[in-house]
Amino acid sequence: MGRECERRTRRRQAGAAYHSGMGTKHFDTRLIHAGLPSPPLGGAVVTPVFQSAICHFEGEEDYHDIRYIRLNNTPNHLELHAKLAALEGAEAALVTASGMAAITTALLTVVRPGDHILFGSTLYGGTHDFVVTDMAELGIEYDFVDPDDPESWEAARRTNTRAFYLESLTNPLLEVPDLEAAVAFCQKHGLLSLVDNTFPSPFNFRPAELGFDLSLHSATKYLNGHSDLVAGAVIGSTELIERVRRKLGHLGGTLDPHACFLLCRGMKTLAVRMRHQNHGALALARFLAGHKAVARVNHPGLTEHPQHERAMRLFDGTSGMLSFELFGGVEAADRMIQALELPIHAPSLGGVESLVTRPALTSHSGMSPEARAASGIADGLVRVSVGLEDSNDLIGDFEAALET
Ligand SMILES: *Cc1c(COP(=O)(O)O)cnc(C)c1O
Repeated sequence: MGRECERRTRRRQAGAAYHSGMGTKHFDTRLIHAGLPSPPLGGAVVTPVFQSAICHFEGEEDYHDIRYIRLNNTPNHLELHAKLAALEGAEAALVTASGMAAITTALLTVVRPGDHILFGSTLYGGTHDFVVTDMAELGIEYDFVDPDDPESWEAARRTNTRAFYLESLTNPLLEVPDLEAAVAFCQKHGLLSLVDNTFPSPFNFRPAELGFDLSLHSATKYLNGHSDLVAGAVIGSTELIERVRRKLGHLGGTLDPHACFLLCRGMKTLAVRMRHQNHGALALARFLAGHKAVARVNHPGLTEHPQHERAMRLFDGTSGMLSFELFGGVEAADRMIQALELPIHAPSLGGVESLVTRPALTSHSGMSPEARAASGIADGLVRVSVGLEDSNDLIGDFEAALET
């Protein structure tokens, strides 16, 4: 059986096809309609949860095509795969048990012991720890490079370099790497390009359109949007996703069908949420930038942001995230966080409720104070994930808290 034929068979499982195309339809429309099984299963408008670990054997010839939950092929998985591919204009996608499962499985698919890989120097803490402990243990070589300095990439490249990994909007300083140069660098040297696209979400940025090979997500954040599940996604070409899918089948970081169902439900409102959150974060960033107690605000929508022009060119919105420092440092930051009524003091991001955290105590507490300082993350830095509250209420809350 030819590969194309094999693929068609897989997409037609459970007697339905899952269309990822949607041709020229806009993002909002794809969110709702892409990936729906055709014909609908049992006539259902919303695909029900397929909580069956096994299905009747139908002569599948390849182990990875056997219909078994761990192999990521229930109707709930297939609908999400087609929807996610359509959202980023890519050929294929795969959901995983967490963002870390997406990241680790993708990395272990593209590099082997003896290979070398380049990483942007500002990474999600979990990714950073995986690289310096687990990948190092496996004998995979790596270097961290300045994501905004293409000349340093050239200098760090070796004959065994296979891939380059970046975050499209960095945490917690909201820097926008030179993403166009990264794609050109990878294409010139035959490297695979991987990008963690969690912060912008597919609404604001679609890496495949720029030429990235793999886009990774913590679907726990904006894609689901309700802070009530953990999930991940890998998006890219049919050939690469098939390799990642086989690796995931072995490593076992599979998303449960019930979580698939919830993620699919959450994702349908991504566009309305992101539009509100993009505006809310920009309004709050502008308010804070004009406040006398505030020393510095990081948000790519502000004209004074060092990569503002690049963000406007590459992104459709600048995300619901921002961070800032007060002149009063750690003490003033803690006093303000205590006084805030609306944002919840908690890590993570991308939910409907606004969240506030000090990265030095949470997401970046694993780094040494020196390493944090070198990356520009002050101990008093406050990170905000703007939720769906009324923007005026949120600004009013910050205004009152800064009075204290
Ligand atoms: C949260 C996060 C992750 C990890 O995702 P989990 O779903 O928690 O495993 C990876 N990258 C970024 C940018 C994140 O914010």
